[in-house]
Amino acid sequence: MTRIDVPSETLVVEIGKDGLNIVETFMQMSGMDDSAQVICDICSKPLGKMKDVKHIESPETITIAVRNGFKPEQMLKATEDMLKGQGEKNPDDLMEIVFESWKSIVDKSETPWALCEDCYKSIQIYIKKR
Ligand SMILES: [Zn+2]
Repeated sequence: MTRIDVPSETLVVEIGKDGLNIVETFMQMSGMDDSAQVICDICSKPLGKMKDVKHIESPETITIAVRNGFKPEQMLKATEDMLKGQGEKNPDDLMEIVFESWKSIVDKSETPWALCEDCYKSIQIYIKKR
């Protein structure tokens, strides 16, 4: 079994007869009090305290960007590196699952997303495509 950490969710996957199965997912609820350190909801870059966060986007905005083809490249790259670090020879199959599961997180999301400068900019490109 392989554990995959994506922002706000951990997946446990195993390779069975029919390919990859998601065995379990855990949502990680992050506290939102004023002194908590906030990380970018897309790439997990530290953003400082909640009051210092410059870019907050509604979940609807993120959904629109994803529908227009936005991919969380930084997050996918970090996950791929992590899988390779675990000795995973074919991270590509797993990456499909990571991206699919990330999209379902976006769909289910009802809370605003804190974004770093880079992710904010890359999201804007896809929102304007509308
Ligand atoms: Zn980011």
